[in-house]
Amino acid sequence: MGVLKRYGEYLPVTKKTPAVNLEEGSTPLVLLDRIGSSLGIELWGKLEGCNPTGSFKDRGMVLAVAKAMEDGASAFVCASTGNTSASAAAYAAHVGAPCYVLLPSGKVAMGKLAQALIYGARVIAVDGNFDRTLEMAREASAKCGFAIVNSVNPYRLISQRTGAWEICESLGDAPDLHAIPVGNAGNISAYWAGYKEFRERGRSKKLPRMMGFQAEGAAPLVTGMACPVPETVATAIRIGNPVSAHLAREAVRESGGEFNSVTDAEILEAQKILAARGGIFAEPASCAPLAGLIKLKKSGLLPEGSRVVMVLTGNGLKDPDTALSQVEKPVAIGGTIEDLMEALRQ
Ligand SMILES: *Cc1c(COP(=O)(O)O)cnc(C)c1O
Repeated sequence: MGVLKRYGEYLPVTKKTPAVNLEEGSTPLVLLDRIGSSLGIELWGKLEGCNPTGSFKDRGMVLAVAKAMEDGASAFVCASTGNTSASAAAYAAHVGAPCYVLLPSGKVAMGKLAQALIYGARVIAVDGNFDRTLEMAREASAKCGFAIVNSVNPYRLISQRTGAWEICESLGDAPDLHAIPVGNAGNISAYWAGYKEFRERGRSKKLPRMMGFQAEGAAPLVTGMACPVPETVATAIRIGNPVSAHLAREAVRESGGEFNSVTDAEILEAQKILAARGGIFAEPASCAPLAGLIKLKKSGLLPEGSRVVMVLTGNGLKDPDTALSQVEKPVAIGGTIEDLMEALRQ
């Protein structure tokens, strides 16, 4: 069941809203007991990489596209570090509308680029960073009447609240800590709004502390200053001037949480731990929370025994190049059984 169906009563869905559905949402929440026990916590991973285009972006995109269709939109535009474009392109294709995707040139993971292209979007590489690309998408939207489906589109964040609702339904309540990567800062804001709303509706009792993790080279919410030249291996959070910064700050302040940064080396190490000790392959940006929890544990700042959910925002297969740069090459042998026995002894 897609999110418009599962949570339609809590979303601005009317009889006139087209029932767009790629079976997004309802993603697995997996107990990561080996990693959790080494950190002294109960650790859960929300596998957003299991969404139809491999990232959480589908949760918001489905409503943004449905409402735009309801309002008579004929084309879509977005700026993207990759996953928004993959999602926009897929939903536009599904409803039969053209989609224009503006990418910061050379800064997008290979899998995401392949997705946007194969879904049939018109992909335009802009000589500029993400923040500039977004300004241009907004102008194109105003000039040409395309529906913009970046998170400046309010329906994106409204529908991304569904992730928090699923977590509360799976665990019976909100967790103690909610750990999440922060790029444009929409998702952390949406989760916080979702947790609050579920409690107001009497569907949950607790509110989690919101822990937002950024990459050190793109950490405007940690430093308190926009970052003119964001740089990180975690391309999905390579953003210097987050659109939803104010909402994210509010979420962290109201919940008693915090922002923290982690280095690229810590992110890549966490990616390996998650894969080799959890069996989950997530893209680099998605591993910032685990890197952050490990860092907090080392400084004695991770509350023992707490129940922690981290949002594994995107699938590792989107960025195979980065993963391959971090592991050893396969062992090459000849074609005899002796060769194999020799190799197995290594
Ligand atoms: C978009 C994205 C993020 C960042 O989310 P924001 O809402 O921009 O903070 C993190 N991880 C992945 C995989 C993403 O696609």
